[in-house]
Amino acid sequence: MPHTSLHTAADLLAYDREHLWHPYTSMTDPTPVRLVTGADGTRITLDDGSELLDGMSSWWAAIHGYNHPALNAALTDQVADFAHVMFGGLTHRPAIALAEKLVSITPEGLDHVFLADSGSVSVEVALKMVLQHQRGVGRPERTRMLTIRGGYHGDTFGCMSVCDPVGGMHSMFSQVLPTQVFADRPPAGVEDVPAWAEGFRSLAAEHAHELAGIIVEPLLQGAGGMHVYPAECLRVMREVADEHELVLVFDEIATGFGRTGWLFAAEAAGVTPDVMCLGKALTGGYLTLAAVLCTGAVAAGLSRSESGVLMHGPTYMGNPLACSVALANLRLLETGDFRSDVERINAGLVAGLAPLRDLPGILDVRTIGAVGVAQLDHPVDVVKATDAAAEEGVWLRPFRDLIYTMPPYVSTDEDVALICTAIGRAAVVA
Ligand SMILES: *Cc1c(COP(=O)(O)O)cnc(C)c1O
Repeated sequence: MPHTSLHTAADLLAYDREHLWHPYTSMTDPTPVRLVTGADGTRITLDDGSELLDGMSSWWAAIHGYNHPALNAALTDQVADFAHVMFGGLTHRPAIALAEKLVSITPEGLDHVFLADSGSVSVEVALKMVLQHQRGVGRPERTRMLTIRGGYHGDTFGCMSVCDPVGGMHSMFSQVLPTQVFADRPPAGVEDVPAWAEGFRSLAAEHAHELAGIIVEPLLQGAGGMHVYPAECLRVMREVADEHELVLVFDEIATGFGRTGWLFAAEAAGVTPDVMCLGKALTGGYLTLAAVLCTGAVAAGLSRSESGVLMHGPTYMGNPLACSVALANLRLLETGDFRSDVERINAGLVAGLAPLRDLPGILDVRTIGAVGVAQLDHPVDVVKATDAAAEEGVWLRPFRDLIYTMPPYVSTDEDVALICTAIGRAAVVA
């Protein structure tokens, strides 16, 4: 345990409250946090000895559960060799083996790998790839991205510019953000795809002279509102990208590694993007790491831009500890049977959430793969909802009007049922 002069839980929490930022939380009037002392399998242990069943997989990441022996071993083995070396001019087995694995499991044609240090950074890198590619192929005037409303791509400036313009952070930063082109959010039902596609095609045609690429979260928009849309829309995007020579970027940071039932959501449409971002579950929830994969054509195009190189290179690029645990995590995915786990969890979520549909204040419930969502007709009182779920022994972290879950793939049927009960409880009080 780390040494600190603060001894009691109350002291620690008081210091935290005074000095530590938490995500999207006020420093001057923060909402309460819980003090964690351990995590194992699907359970998070709190300082008072109580346990919470994790309904969040630590934000999509801990797909195999906490304290996994294989993931622990990968880290301790690697740290005994070396923890990190710079990636400029040096390389190592963990990065090479991870690149080989990612190239082999992602859609055919994504052959080049950039190892970034977080999801947001990987999106920045992807955006640079797009812009440098267009410069390299003689279209420097193409600088804007086409995206869809309701998206979330991370918190840094390039990322913010392609997040949903209403729910995102555009209004506050409008003076400094690049202005992108926003198409309507794709519909939930297939019957509405043709009308949406028509709008998407005409918007692309209208702006083609200034567009460099398209960026979307395929199949499931995560933090922008947990919206599920038909795979057919991805085929439309591929066609539009080809027609107007746009670089198609799929941000699979949330959807990647089995969460939707497909290893990658792109597979649902049989579409290969030109660039793909991966993160979150890449290391099974152990360390921050992301990857950007691109095709040979994108790599060749951007290499003809005036710099001749991709203009990015973080200090901790290709961190060997993160790469090693990512490899072990992918090995678990391969040797396990995530497809039947996700299918089983989906069945549990469908059955467990269906009764919520009739509760007052609930607008919609929906699922895709191992993701379950209850949408309210009002903004969630996060503290009340979190406390109500915790009383059921479940950890949930709602946002906006959504109470949702993406449980670890190792969750049992009983776990999934309990999570659904907790979502119901939270929805009623919130
Ligand atoms: C979480 C997320 C990001 C940002 O990743 P960070 O690691 O938090 O920077 C980007 N895109 C999508 C789709 C995400 O879900």
